[in-house]
Amino acid sequence: MDDMSRRTALKTGAATLAGGLAGPATGAARGPEVVVVGAGVFGAWTARHLQRLGRRVLLLDAWGPAHARASSGGESRLTRGSYGADEIYTRFAWESLAEWKSLSSRAGLPILHQAGVLFFFPTREDYVARTIEVHRRLALPTEVLERAAMARRFPQIDFEGIEIGLYEPAFGALMARRAVQTLVAEFVAAGGEYRRAAVAPPEAGEGPLERIILSDGTALRAARFVFACGPWLPKLFPSLLGSRIFPTRQEVFFFAPPAGGSDFQVGRLPGWADFNGGDIFYGFPDLEGRGFKIAHDAHGPPMDPDGGDRIPSPAALAEVRAFMERRFPAMRGRPLSEARVCQYENSANGDFLVDFHPSRPNVLLVGAGSGHGFKHGPAVGRYAAALLEGRLAHAEPRFALAAKSERQNRAVH
Ligand SMILES: Cc1cc2nc3c(=O)[nH]c(=O)nc-3n(C[C@H](O)[C@H](O)[C@H](O)COP(=O)(O)OP(=O)(O)OC[C@H]3O[C@@H](n4cnc5c(N)ncnc54)[C@H](O)[C@@H]3O)c2cc1C
Repeated sequence: MDDMSRRTALKTGAATLAGGLAGPATGAARGPEVVVVGAGVFGAWTARHLQRLGRRVLLLDAWGPAHARASSGGESRLTRGSYGADEIYTRFAWESLAEWKSLSSRAGLPILHQAGVLFFFPTREDYVARTIEVHRRLALPTEVLERAAMARRFPQIDFEGIEIGLYEPAFGALMARRAVQTLVAEFVAAGGEYRRAAVAPPEAGEGPLERIILSDGTALRAARFVFACGPWLPKLFPSLLGSRIFPTRQEVFFFAPPAGGSDFQVGRLPGWADFNGGDIFYGFPDLEGRGFKIAHDAHGPPMDPDGGDRIPSPAALAEVRAFMERRFPAMRGRPLSEARVCQYENSANGDFLVDFHPSRPNVLLVGAGSGHGFKHGPAVGRYAAALLEGRLAHAEPRFALAAKSERQNRAVH
């Protein structure tokens, strides 16, 4: 990000000037019209879409795009279209895939590895039937595979106890940190401003928010503000979101595949998820030599994104190893090469939050990716930008603040 910081540093003087939304954007000299706080996948795509709509946008982040503790940080994220009956997320994933492919084609290194994704299930449960219905309606190229067909095609996986699978050849793995950093670089190259700065919790009150205060004491004015601060949103809006977004501790592990051979490479092993009665385990092929990645999708204990402990636990390691060695016999005894602790920022049921602050009509809140948000970044950003600009034909009720319960009851998988 050094080049990007240098380029944007030349422009940030203008960022402290007041902005206004009247009239078309005519260059950086008049200051930003919109300030987007948070350069994770949601904030970066929101900034990029606002820029495409002609807005002068300043994007801020306290630690940098997709930094190590951000929910968008780390190596990789699965993208898939299987969401049971939750068609909104299938649509968002499909729409986003086109953007990811396009970004990938412009980047120097791959952002999307189109490895395919195999989601497999112990029984033909409702989730499978609903997914098939939605995919047929949307004409997604999803294949329904019986156990024997899966076993022939993916001999690395032991399908004991599995009846059926959904194979999505168009989807795969996104290189998370690289994706967000590439996007922010593209935003800057197209004339956007990015600055590394921390924003204090906005002043309480009614009516339009006039300014935000940065950690160096600078006041920054703009006509509109977007807060896409992931697991930090409850800290910025404690009374509003402190009991509506639940950051949880999540652990991911990388193991070295067997030496030589290509059984665990892209092209042989797809991204995969074992539905496991709703208690999902998921993983990736050996992407770019990082190793075979595996994680348990169950929500961990509450996690403070600043002070939370990031040392992987022996219990989680033992759990994923046991699962991996059962489902992937060739991985038995393979050495751990890396482990990371991250956090999900869950809404009560897994639906995203994209809505205006109830007493600050020029403040848009974007977050609650809930452990599945990354793949949807392009569509969430497009939706957020359209909502902010008053261009949405129909607001999605599931993304409304009013739909965010204070009692956790996960429903979206
Ligand atoms: C382990 C793990 C695995 C996951 N797997 C998948 C997957 O396979 N597929 C998938 O689609 N999704 C997955 N997700 C979910 C997805 O990664 C997240 O939903 C998504 O990245 C959230 O992005 P965000 O932009 O909302 O938050 P973040 O990436 O956390 O971005 C928020 C940004 O706001 C900044 N910020 C916060 N406070 C301030 C402040 N006061 N001033 C300035 N900046 C501030 C932070 O520095 C941060 O960069 C996974 C998440 C985790 C943790």
